[in-house]
Amino acid sequence: MGAFVLQWRSVRVVFGVGSLDRLSDEVRRLGAERALVLATPGQRRIADEAATVLRSLAAGVYAEAVMHVPIETVRAGRESAARLNADSLIAVGGGSTIGLAKAIALETGLPIVAIPTTYSGSEMTSIYGLTDGGVKKTGRDLRVLPKTVVYDPTLTVSLPPRVSATSGLNAMAHCVEALYTRDLHRVRSHFAALGIRALARSLPIVVEAPANLDARSHALKGAWLAGSALNEATMGIHHRLCHTLGGSFNLPHAEVHAVVLPHATAFNRDAAPEAMRRIAGELDAPDAAQGIYDLAIRLGAPSSLSEIGMRQKDLDRAARLATENPYENPRPVEYEGVRQLLEEAYNGTRPARPS
Ligand code: NAD
Repeated sequence: MGAFVLQWRSVRVVFGVGSLDRLSDEVRRLGAERALVLATPGQRRIADEAATVLRSLAAGVYAEAVMHVPIETVRAGRESAARLNADSLIAVGGGSTIGLAKAIALETGLPIVAIPTTYSGSEMTSIYGLTDGGVKKTGRDLRVLPKTVVYDPTLTVSLPPRVSATSGLNAMAHCVEALYTRDLHRVRSHFAALGIRALARSLPIVVEAPANLDARSHALKGAWLAGSALNEATMGIHHRLCHTLGGSFNLPHAEVHAVVLPHATAFNRDAAPEAMRRIAGELDAPDAAQGIYDLAIRLGAPSSLSEIGMRQKDLDRAARLATENPYENPRPVEYEGVRQLLEEAYNGTRPARPS
């Protein structure tokens, strides 16, 4: 047996229908007694529900989280935490809310309990993002890794089918890229493969029957596995490209992931044959890229960059931005290939059959 180095991060995971009821115990377990509950304005109801569960342990609710974590919102959130003398943060929501909690924790060191209500997987990572002066920066820091994650599938039932589909494909993207990263340990690649399977089986049921708690549970389990895999892996062309498209062209995060994933997978097809076999196997499809494309269509997710607001005249600039700094990817990332990938994603054509 070969030697290896594996850094296990310690995140406590509480999973199951009704687990929100355990929130007070989980906060006390951290030694905290004044928790600030964070949410987006649209999820205020769930934030209030969490505050009700917490009773005297709730210091207040700050429901101002917005997409891309603008620095102004972070400052206001930090002031709110200081004013209320908060000793912990409860992030109830998707990647935007968890992102706000991370940005506050980065400076204050306050412990985070995350209660994810989408499939972004952010709750399992030490990756943070912050938009300052119109530029989104990302980084990794262990201070932002939640101490505890409470997964309650009941809270995801209200997630609309289109958001469920795109957010689920965002999670699948973490698994796909984790499977061809150079530094992924076998245990983590198992997480990624199980994540693809759980998502591919559950998402079609979730979009057809949003209140199906069994399917919701499996989708959330897929998100947990995906976030865990993402935390350990170096991301390749797919995440870099989505970051460029979201950050510089203001396209919606999960929808960009849903559109680009089949094409980024096809881009790497010949350079990562073992990963492709594994992805296709978990999807029960003959080809990984085509299998993901067909799943996205079945889920009713957007399939082209044109339909989510990208302009054709910006494709050259996007390809230049995505290739100006070198990064790791199974296939070398060069302008011509990326421009072609973007053209296919713009048109939303089904990836060609492997030759
Ligand atoms: P989001 O958090 O913006 O949520 C999308 C929409 O769904 C919002 O309007 C939200 O209010 C709504 N919503 C959330 N839960 C709901 C529910 N249960 N019912 C009804 N509506 C609900 O989007 P997202 O896709 O979860 O996250 C995207 C953000 O997360 C991006 O900024 C991205 O960069 C970040 N992200 C970070 C990581 C990481 O590891 N740091 C990983 C993935 C995504």
